[in-house]
Amino acid sequence: MKYHSTRNKEQKYSFREAALIGLAPDRGLFVPDTIPQLPAGFFEELPEMDSINMAMRVMRPYVGEDIPEERLHQILKETLAFSLPLRKLDEESYVMELFHGPTMAFKDVGARFMARCMAEFRKGQEEITVLVATSGDTGSAVAHGFYEVPGVKVEILYPKGKISPFQEQQMTSLGGNISAWAVDGSFDDCQRLVKQALNDADLTESLQLSSANSINVARFLPQMIYYFMAYAQLRKRGDCREVVMAVPCGNLGNLTAGLYAHRMGLPIHKFVAAQNANDAFYRYLKEGEYLPKSTIATYSNAMDVGAPSNFSRILELFDHNLEAIRKLIVASSTSDEQTLGQIRQGYDESHYISDPHAAVALHGLQGILGKGQAGIFLATAHPRKFEDVVSRAVPGFNHHKSTSSPGQRKCMSNSYAQLKDVLLV
Ligand SMILES: *Cc1c(COP(=O)(O)O)cnc(C)c1O
Repeated sequence: MKYHSTRNKEQKYSFREAALIGLAPDRGLFVPDTIPQLPAGFFEELPEMDSINMAMRVMRPYVGEDIPEERLHQILKETLAFSLPLRKLDEESYVMELFHGPTMAFKDVGARFMARCMAEFRKGQEEITVLVATSGDTGSAVAHGFYEVPGVKVEILYPKGKISPFQEQQMTSLGGNISAWAVDGSFDDCQRLVKQALNDADLTESLQLSSANSINVARFLPQMIYYFMAYAQLRKRGDCREVVMAVPCGNLGNLTAGLYAHRMGLPIHKFVAAQNANDAFYRYLKEGEYLPKSTIATYSNAMDVGAPSNFSRILELFDHNLEAIRKLIVASSTSDEQTLGQIRQGYDESHYISDPHAAVALHGLQGILGKGQAGIFLATAHPRKFEDVVSRAVPGFNHHKSTSSPGQRKCMSNSYAQLKDVLLV
């Protein structure tokens, strides 16, 4: 499989190159030249298939010869070493819980896969610095994914005061090859700093730099596996209805992975791109114009992304055809008030406690399901990670109060000059 940048189809890269570079030199995002199709027989066997073998079939064409088959099998086995259960909530809806990994958020799968690919690619070479901007969960997933991986140093940038103490603790407490920086600014500032560093020829001359954001192909592609797993579990339960899949969206990486899975042949009828007040994609589908705004802080803070970077991958996937996008994706925009209401309602009606991100997805799903359809919403974080918010909707929920220490917080301004100094020490 060859990859190209969303800004230039001519120049080709291997999976290895795309994963190591992260962002294309022209600042575009890497995308595969083609999306491989899985044969109809694959989908018939899917409900009974072993999940690692399934993941191999899905991922193998994207990785190609860059990782030997046996090694890829091992990497997937380590990546998927926790449960990803589908639970039935009521007659129409199911929740796919993606938060049983080490950092209790869905980003663990992508981060673990990417870390292992990087380690494989960098065997016996000089140290690489992985730079990552996070609005909360990416940082902790990447930190845990790379923790003690030899030959890799990780620098995480997060917006100061805009992530939960629990998230901050997960990033700052590891130490070793992981450093986390509280940046005086927004998530978009963090993302801008990372992009600028990756494109700074002066810097990349003296430093092997890579990115770990959801823009990295090695992080974003394995998320396709969730959709195959969700579908497999639904069919295994004997539910043969049309599937509507609601995805809580921030940078649109998870949604894009779902769209790829669909393009590979996975029969998903519709996607719901569930957004909070940071709803650029929702407005794009509604008004036909893409007008990103600066980030707004919400309860579902891992989705607080004003200008989602994977938007360009979606456009490319659909050849910039808005009508084709509208055919497959509906979007929703959910306020903080509605998020709380949804958590409360889910608890009252089904005794299910959603974290704020899952609640946004469930809210988006409601009212969209038609007759003969089954809805699956993705629960991307454990409610305990957001117990301050959840306990506002479900009193008494915060009895797990985390007692862990805050770790070592390092601070910096949002100026690029300071980031460069940090990287060059
Ligand atoms: C990152 C994240 C999201 C958003 O995923 P994207 O791929 O950035 O759209 C949603 N929920 C949680 C809990 C997250 O950590």
